[in-house]
Amino acid sequence: MEQTLAILKPDSYANGNAGKILAHLEAEGFTIRGLRVVHLTEAQAGAFYAVHSERPFFGSLVEFMTSGPCIPVALERENAVKGLREVMGATNPAEAAEGTIRKLYAANIENNAIHGSDSPENAAIELAFFFSSSDLIAAR
Ligand code: ATP
Ligand code: MG
Repeated sequence: MEQTLAILKPDSYANGNAGKILAHLEAEGFTIRGLRVVHLTEAQAGAFYAVHSERPFFGSLVEFMTSGPCIPVALERENAVKGLREVMGATNPAEAAEGTIRKLYAANIENNAIHGSDSPENAAIELAFFFSSSDLIAAR
């Protein structure tokens, strides 16, 4: 079993798609081990996406991620990191495969419904960004 971090982004929260996306993730075999509703500050959003700080879209990305509440979710499944990326679909919903979350719920390359960790190493860092280990429900 592996864990990864998803964030249902502010567009999903504002559009009322969060429940549908969680149902989609559960249907794909993910178990929810932790879930919060948070409104990120500029500093938090900038730190979370620090890897993109030199990209031209960074300011806009931080503005979007702080535009309203979002929902970080700790997910567990076999092959969770890679599996979540597949279920999410491509960054740009115009290029996302049919049936993926971004194809179904994303408006454009920035307002793209969901974040998913891109490696097991980053999943561990990103899970710790939002959850302490005592917040995560252990398998039993
Ligand atoms: P995420 O990290 O949110 O899961 P991703 O890994 O598919 O998305 P990244 O390249 O890490 O894509 O980009 C992070 C986020 O920055 C994207 O999800 C999107 O919201 C935004 N973004 C990426 N590229 C662009 C772009 N060209 N223009 C505007 N926003 C962008
Ligand atoms: Mg990414």
